[in-house]
Amino acid sequence: MGGVLKPVAIAALEGAAGDEAVEIEIEGWISPFEAEPASRYFALVEESPCCIGCLPREAARRVEVFAEDDIAIDGAKVRLRGRLHRLDHDDAGWRFQLREARRIDTRADPEANFTRRRVLHVGAMAGLTGLTALGLPGCTTPADVAAARAQGLQPIEGTPTVDVHSHDGGLIGLARVQGHGPFRPLAEPMRDGGMAVVCLAIVSDTPTHHLTPDHRIRPFRDPAPGELQAYGQLSFERLHALVKAQGLAIVATADDLRRARSDRPSIVVSAEGGDFLEGRVERVDQAYTQWTLRHLQLTHYRVNELGDIQTEAPVHGGLTPVGAEVIRRCNRLGIVVDVAHGTYELVQQAAAVTTRPLVLSHTSLSPKPAARSRLISPAHARVVADTGGLIGIWPPKARFPDLPALATGMARMVDVVGVDHVALGSDMRGLTGPSVFDSYRDLPLLSKAMLDHGFSADEVRRILGGNYVRVFGATLEAGSG
Ligand SMILES: [Zn+2]
Ligand SMILES: [Zn+2]
Repeated sequence: MGGVLKPVAIAALEGAAGDEAVEIEIEGWISPFEAEPASRYFALVEESPCCIGCLPREAARRVEVFAEDDIAIDGAKVRLRGRLHRLDHDDAGWRFQLREARRIDTRADPEANFTRRRVLHVGAMAGLTGLTALGLPGCTTPADVAAARAQGLQPIEGTPTVDVHSHDGGLIGLARVQGHGPFRPLAEPMRDGGMAVVCLAIVSDTPTHHLTPDHRIRPFRDPAPGELQAYGQLSFERLHALVKAQGLAIVATADDLRRARSDRPSIVVSAEGGDFLEGRVERVDQAYTQWTLRHLQLTHYRVNELGDIQTEAPVHGGLTPVGAEVIRRCNRLGIVVDVAHGTYELVQQAAAVTTRPLVLSHTSLSPKPAARSRLISPAHARVVADTGGLIGIWPPKARFPDLPALATGMARMVDVVGVDHVALGSDMRGLTGPSVFDSYRDLPLLSKAMLDHGFSADEVRRILGGNYVRVFGATLEAGSG
């Protein structure tokens, strides 16, 4: 028996108009997006997945599943019933979606509710959709990377590769920060993959937010006075300990960035959320001097003293006066201002205040973002680009199932704001689910996917570093912005 999709469903879908769905039963393995015992959102694939978030490359061999209730992820083959939709132009590259899904087998009685009338192999479906069932593995091998590197980009003097938002190296997380937990390798995968610079961000509001059962990150309490400042200090200390332990270089000037090379990887000290400031603008100067802070994201998952966030109801009507003061201070000192997580109103107001380009480091484009979504509209993107700034595209697998889909996501943003205003913002080790770009060793695969998509080598270099070099230079060098 086997196969993710069954012919009756496919035939019905072929005949169905528009968004019409058919009620079906599907059998396969759950490929979860997170290491959780149960989930309402995952992919169903036809073979037991080899790792978390592992997906076949072809859209025809995976189904995006939204379940009515949590479904246990126990490694067993499952049978689901739900309404199957065919997606004709999904940004994220999904073609089939099962909604209102529920598990109809049980481990005690695997044949419960089983009906045999709808069974066929996925190959038949692939035929119906005009695809070839190649059976490519979802996970990449060192040989894939080596091959991509051989065909890929050679580094160019003065244009280092840059990831504009990352937490890699085991930097963040309450238990790790407070318990001084071990680091993960960062310098080594950067060297291996040819990544010269990452904007490495501490997170200072972690003690006050948590993951809700529906997989959203939300604040659950107010911080005590001094609490987030202290947690921020601890986090910056940890960042500097990581830098020292792995022999990373710290970018302090625009020239440092231009000269950065992947054989001696560098970081830009960054903070996701100005919560550690606790509304005190002079702490920006302290962080600039004490920690070499050069990239500050105003807000994160807590409506803080600086402004409103996309994932909670607005409180301030956008940017606060303190937020505006922090931007002016960053402009004067030479710190990149990052408006990721801020509301559209905050971004518009920040654009009116700043005299330097803005960065929105990790998101992707949506024609019409849902309420509380972290994605941004074309208008939102244009506000950032109009400051001369850039937008980092992030790689959650739930959004972009594979690297070609991520390259397409970058191209969609380029269509809106132009190639000089797009970058890579991996959010590495900061995403709540798996990422299609979760190791710097895979950088050659990403640049190859971008070249395959049709970007020129020069465009790939701009997106994967050159644009950030421009923004950083304009921010740190007085008079050039
Ligand atoms: Zn974030
Ligand atoms: Zn992040």
